[in-house]
Amino acid sequence: MNCPYCDEELTYDDYFGRIAAHQDGKVLGDIYKCNNEDCEAYQQSFYTYRDRPDDLHEGYPC
Ligand SMILES: [Zn+2]
Repeated sequence: MNCPYCDEELTYDDYFGRIAAHQDGKVLGDIYKCNNEDCEAYQQSFYTYRDRPDDLHEGYPC
C-alpha cells in the first residue's frame, strides 16, 4: 500500500474492528501511516477495509 501523497510505501500501524472486550473480535481493516518526513501527510493515518484492501481511506476509522 502506497501513500497517495508521496507514493512511498506506508508503514503498517494497527488493525481495527470490533475488538473491544464485549465485541465479537472481528477485524474489519488495517491502519497505515506515512513515515516519509518530506511528505505533507507525514504521520497521518490511512486505513483500508479487509473486504476492499485496495480502497485506501484517509484519516482514522471510527
Ligand atoms: Zn506520504
